[in-house]
Amino acid sequence: MQFDVTPNPQPVDAARRREILADPGFGTHFTDHTAVVDWSWDESGGHWHSARVEAYGPIQLDPAASVLHYAQEVFEGMKAYRHADGGIYTFRPQANAARLQRSARRLALPELDEATFLASLEQLLALDHAWVPDGDGAALYLRPFMYASEAFLGVRPAHEVSYRVIASPAGNYFGGELKPVRIWVSRDYTRAAPGGTGAAKTGGNYAGSLVAQQQAADNGCAQVLFLDPLHDNAVEELGGMNVFLVTSDGRLITPALTGTILEGITRESVIQLGRDRGLEVEERRITLDEWARGVEDGTITEAFACGTAAVITPIGELVDGDTVIASAGTGEVTTSIREELLGIQTGAVQDRHGWLHRLA
Ligand SMILES: *Cc1c(COP(=O)(O)O)cnc(C)c1O
Repeated sequence: MQFDVTPNPQPVDAARRREILADPGFGTHFTDHTAVVDWSWDESGGHWHSARVEAYGPIQLDPAASVLHYAQEVFEGMKAYRHADGGIYTFRPQANAARLQRSARRLALPELDEATFLASLEQLLALDHAWVPDGDGAALYLRPFMYASEAFLGVRPAHEVSYRVIASPAGNYFGGELKPVRIWVSRDYTRAAPGGTGAAKTGGNYAGSLVAQQQAADNGCAQVLFLDPLHDNAVEELGGMNVFLVTSDGRLITPALTGTILEGITRESVIQLGRDRGLEVEERRITLDEWARGVEDGTITEAFACGTAAVITPIGELVDGDTVIASAGTGEVTTSIREELLGIQTGAVQDRHGWLHRLA
């Protein structure tokens, strides 16, 4: 699909951009442009059209737009890094394209083909490449998303949909060095149920997790661990990251994908890098009891969370009401997998699996 490009007549000036890039934080500053593709329903099912890159700015949206009422929306999250060769690369974008299609199917949204998805990123980076920071662990966070823009209060899949990509320079997600985070075990709330939308990357899952996140913060924790809503204490995932345990006999354990867990691309990559190291990977049910016992008897030596934003973060304490499950801190396996993964993404380590894709 051909993108019409209209450069922003008033881009952020270079001095201000450099100031932002020196300390970008996360998700507060945005680049000069956005890529857009619209979709309209028609007799033959619907079609994508009006692909364009235009100035970043507020969206004209009718107050009756269905996304505002019924949350028909899906999104993706990925990072672009500036490499030493001057190129700008992202990580496994084909997997993001495929997941956006799966999420869209679940939310009754139209599927965007992989070629248009990749082109939208490339077209945006062609104009906004100067926004990719080059600090340690810093990247340009890319946020593709799709929403129901049709002005209609009836409940049915929208006939007008927009797909967009925005980009936001990001520093090191949890800031500074690799320090273990405290995690709150949510006993009052779950994030997904069988047959629900847990495996789709959709805003509603996040809306439903905010009160749990608030509880976590009130208890001095950075993130929430959600449990299986049916089998009392099986571990599912954090609000936006997947979970791994490392055992003393060289196994890597992560909850199986049962439909209530988001299929992280970082998760899949960690599994591959674990196998490369000769670790035995088990995707199965893990209970909180098994976790607590394992930590106590020394068979579980490390625990970490993973996702695009923070890459890999060691889990320090797990706070379950009055019970605190401590962990070993930042272990060897966590550090080694994190270094390789981040190394591949930033271009410092050889990309053995062909995961990188050059955007600009
Ligand atoms: C995006 C997301 C993840 C992590 O997926 P990555 O592809 O590794 O970034 C994990 N859990 C949830 C709920 C998510 O939305």
